[in-house]
Amino acid sequence: MDIEYLLTTSDPVAVDELMREACRVRDAVYGRRVFMRGLIEISNHCKNNCLYCGIRRDAKCRRYRLSKEQILDCCRTGYGLGFRTFVMQGGEDAWYTDEVMCDIVEAVKREFPDCAVTLSLGERGRESFRRLREAGADRYLLRHETADADHYRRLHPAEMSLEHRMQCLHDLRDLGYQVGAGFMVGSPGQTVETLKKDLAFIEDFKPEMVGIGPFIPAAGTPFEGERAGSVEITLRLLAMIRLLHPHVLLPATSALGTMHPQGRERAIAAGANVVMPNLSPQDTRSLYSIYNNKLSTGSEAAESAADIRLRMAAIGMEVPEDRGDFVN
Ligand code: SAH
Repeated sequence: MDIEYLLTTSDPVAVDELMREACRVRDAVYGRRVFMRGLIEISNHCKNNCLYCGIRRDAKCRRYRLSKEQILDCCRTGYGLGFRTFVMQGGEDAWYTDEVMCDIVEAVKREFPDCAVTLSLGERGRESFRRLREAGADRYLLRHETADADHYRRLHPAEMSLEHRMQCLHDLRDLGYQVGAGFMVGSPGQTVETLKKDLAFIEDFKPEMVGIGPFIPAAGTPFEGERAGSVEITLRLLAMIRLLHPHVLLPATSALGTMHPQGRERAIAAGANVVMPNLSPQDTRSLYSIYNNKLSTGSEAAESAADIRLRMAAIGMEVPEDRGDFVN
């Protein structure tokens, strides 16, 4: 695959062919189905200070965290709306010790044994990942952010490293999680060369899930004045990832939906097959402000789910009540 050509060409025929081939490959593996995951943003407290992130340690945002009961309530609402995967995402918040988090995972699995639990809580130790897996967590999302160590250092403070991030991804895989990696498109310092490394990593590690979306500047961060990433380039990268790793579960991310009114539909037309409507309580959504103007900030869970179903039906995609596991 000529990655540089596909990223830079202005030939609409070449781009169209790329998109159509990606859809053909997706349909052959998963059919014309889009899997829904309910996103529950459990905390915006974070000990890290990633330069791009709106809930970084130094951000002056109002902080919140959800209790076990609040999280279970989100799951109950989601279950009634047909969700069979719950994704608990948050900043790196030490309040959620292994004991606390295992208790939450066990409670969700006990009440919803037919659902998958996905965690996205940043870097933790192998022992912690092991205990959470034992408690019932099925999947873990931890974007690698960039596969280039120098670029990684440009995006993160000195105490963070690509090496540790990659160690976590390998630990998660060893422990039997379905693992999600991914990166932002158009983050400051990203080049064709760093993107080639991202795609090489994906082709080699073959994460079960890959989340990519445009970088969007977040107020109050060192990158607040930087340019946002490109929707068009994100779509081309989605299609390339589908071709390099046909079985991947590939979300049409909210960041794409935020940048373009038809962003998620266009992602599906580029080979994506997952959507993650928000199940977080209405009053905390605006506080999980990882970037500016995040989608459906004030709406209710039922509204975002219904909106997604309508959008997917309109482009001829089925949204099954299904965990949507990785197909080997
Ligand atoms: N603390 C967790 C969850 C982070 S938020 C973790 O470390 O994995 C989930 C993802 O949002 C991040 O991995 C990052 O790729 C993305 N993100 C953060 N800030 C962003 C921004 N300004 N624009 C677009 N995406 C962003």
